[in-house]
This record gives sequence, structure tokens and C-alpha cells, in this order.
Amino acid sequence: MECNLNFLLAGNISKLTNLKIRVVSTTVSMATNKQESATKPKPNTKKRSPTTTVIEDIEDFSNEEIPKIRVSLLQWYYQNQRVLPWRINQVLDIDVVADDCRAYAVWVSEIMLQQTRVATVIDYYNRWMEKWPTLQHLAQASQEEVNEMWAGLGYYRRARFLLEGAKMVVEGEGNFPRNVSDLCKVRGIGDYTAGAIASIAFKEAVPVVDGNVVRVIARLKAISANPKESVKSFWKLAGQLVDPSRPGDFNQALMELGSTLCTPTSPGCSTCPVSGQCRALSLSRNHESVKVTNYPIKVVKAKQRHDFCAVCVVEILEDRDSDIQEGAHTYLLIKRPKEGLLAGLWEFPSVLLGGEVGLSMRKQSIDKYLKKSFRIDTKKKGILISREDIGECVHVFTHIRLKMYVELLVLHLKGEDFLPLPLLMSHSNPIKTPQLIKGWKSALSDINLNCGILWLYNL
Ligand code: SF4
Repeated sequence: MECNLNFLLAGNISKLTNLKIRVVSTTVSMATNKQESATKPKPNTKKRSPTTTVIEDIEDFSNEEIPKIRVSLLQWYYQNQRVLPWRINQVLDIDVVADDCRAYAVWVSEIMLQQTRVATVIDYYNRWMEKWPTLQHLAQASQEEVNEMWAGLGYYRRARFLLEGAKMVVEGEGNFPRNVSDLCKVRGIGDYTAGAIASIAFKEAVPVVDGNVVRVIARLKAISANPKESVKSFWKLAGQLVDPSRPGDFNQALMELGSTLCTPTSPGCSTCPVSGQCRALSLSRNHESVKVTNYPIKVVKAKQRHDFCAVCVVEILEDRDSDIQEGAHTYLLIKRPKEGLLAGLWEFPSVLLGGEVGLSMRKQSIDKYLKKSFRIDTKKKGILISREDIGECVHVFTHIRLKMYVELLVLHLKGEDFLPLPLLMSHSNPIKTPQLIKGWKSALSDINLNCGILWLYNL
């Protein structure tokens, strides 16, 4: 875990004792989310990995099937769609055309919905739109403001791409690109988001394919191929189904069916509007061994990587005899690099370990890191007041399981004992314990903390 040396000293925090092992899982892997949250494709980072060529034999939808599916699904959607804030047409600024308002609403909601459940997104979406009702408003925001608004949703890269994309559009033509190929040129907009914006806001007859759509199509056609290796086929089939006169409604209907009725483990086939066209259902009725939930086939997930790191909460006392009640304590925080995991977030000094190692090795790694990075020599006489192993914390990312061993180091440092700090935040309110927690929160409310810090912060 490499950290840059952009750091700060933060004011009073609550006592970091009595820590227990917990799993912090704010960026939950796809396997543990509900179907709504696990199915949105990730944003386009313009770096595509090489694809595997697979020879498939998947039949097209027939000319008889297509109109039946369109009519039944749209009718069902108009009667059953959930009322969601991003589905409401609103012109939020008289200087911005209605279609652009809709495109912005679809964009924000689709990015938020990637890896996150609808119920969670609603509040975030409403707060976001209140602060930045149009693309033009968002383009004037800072990264820090956007991260602050995003705090808790995880995958902060999505927020960064939204801001960068907004700036890119506003600095270019000023209006939203109106078709898939132009939308895909915007930072952070991939095939899925482009299809959603183009079809819903600008009525371009293009498909969208997310996990819900894959599931419905796999069942309608009883497709036995691995969906990950047959992505192109699913896009092609979804493209055949899109209703050219109502592409946005049709795409939302297909996703809504997968999200609410044709669910992974308990599909409601008895009330399904397209049950008459569903081959998986037909097969299951004729063959006892076949279940509709056999489709799509389950793909074995890549093994999660296990990483380990030593974290040191460095508490600095200006005066050896000062008491925490007096509020004279400061804490060392470091800003992570702009790119990569948890980009741009603040954290306690951390060292990535080669593997699972014992306490003495972890201490050595921390000492070496503090000396090399900050010129803090914990062995120097009079510096180390106390040192305590205070607990472990596991942070689960999609592909990484990071175990953090946390130590609390209380140090007495004078100016010459460490490198000059480029950024200093010091809060020294003489306060009681409950307010001390409040002080810690207010001290750090305007910066973006990573989940490890939030874990300590919530103790
Ligand atoms: S009939 Fe059942 S399996 Fe087929 S699409 Fe409808 S809900 Fe899904």
C-alpha cells in the first residue's frame, strides 16, 4: 500500500482502544449484493482487456416472438414500474433543454446504481440533484465536494469519472452527446450507460445489457453458454428486442422485469408477462430435471487476492504530560495517490506486508516506514510514550480481501523530530468525551476518509 507524502495532522479523536475484529464491507463484492446491485456494468475506463473468441450457436428471436415480447413487456411495465426519482421528467433549469436534464438524471442514477442497491441510491441521488441539478452545476464542483457527497457509496472512481465527464461535456459542445457512439467518447461512459442515456433521454433505438437483462434473455432463449463469454450475443439479442418507437421504456421494462420478477433464485413465472415466450419455463414444464434458475449458467468467480497491511495510528502529543481531555493531541493522516485503489482518500499511515506476519515484523515495517517517510525515529530517546496493538480489521473489495493490523503509537514530537508538514489541521477544543467524538467528526468532515479510518471513527 504505497502512500504519497501529502499528509495532515488531524485533531482530537476518540480513544482508539478496545478494538475488535470486524469486517468492513462498504464495497461489497458482486456475490453478496442483491440482483439490482450486482448487475450494472462497471464504468468505461477506456482500457479493455483482450477478449476470448467463442464460437456460439445462439438463435435469434423470431419475427413472431419479437412483437409479442415487446407488447407484453411494455404493457406490464406501464402498470408495474416502480416510481423512482430519476424516472420523473423534470426540467430543473430553464436554460437547459429537457432532454439534457433527463440525460443527466439517467447518467447520475446509472453510475450510482453500479454495484449499489436501488434503495440505497435514492437518498444519494436526491441529495446529489439538490446540490447539482444540472450538468453545468456539476461541472463547477470540486473533486473534494463530489467525494464528500459520494461518501458511503464506495467505488469512488465512479464519482471521479462523473465529474470528469461533466467537465468534458461542458467544456466541449455544452450539450449532451445524443447518440451511443458520441456518448462513449465521454470519460466514464461505457456501452451500458451510453445505451441507457441514448435510449431513455434521446430515444435512440439501442439496447442496454446489464446482469438483469442477461438473466431474462438467457431464460427466454434457454441459453446454456457462459454469459461472460457470449456478451456480444446478448447485446445482439437485446438489440433485436428493443422497441424502435419506445426504446427507453422497453429497456427499462426489460431491466425492471429482471430486477423485480425474473430474479436469480425465485422468479415469479406465474405472473410473468413473457411466460408464453420463455423457453426455460417451457423446458422446466416438460423435463423434471430442468429448472428456470439453471439459466443463465453460473460462472465460477475469480479467486479473491488476500493482502495484509500494518496500519499505525500515530497520536502526537505536544506536551508529554498533556491529557486527552485538554485536546492537545493530533493524528497523522496520509492522502492516497490519485490513481488506484481508494484513490485520493485519507488514511492512517499504512505499510503493505509481504504476507501474514507476526507483531514484531509489523512493528519493524512501521518503524522503517515512519523513519524513511517522515524522519520519525521511534527509537530516539523521549519520543515513544506508548505503543499498543489495538486490533484487526478486514476490508473486502471486489477482488481483494485486505486485512489491516492496527497499532496505536503515542509519540512526543517536537518540530525537529519529523519532516515539516505541508498541511496541518489542529483542533484543540477543551471538551468532554462525547463532544470529543463530535470534534473528531467535525475536524474531518470536509475530507474524504477511507473505510479503515471510518471503521475506527465509528467505534
Ligand atoms: S417466465 Fe419465469 S423465467 Fe421466464 S422470463 Fe418470466 S419470470 Fe423469467
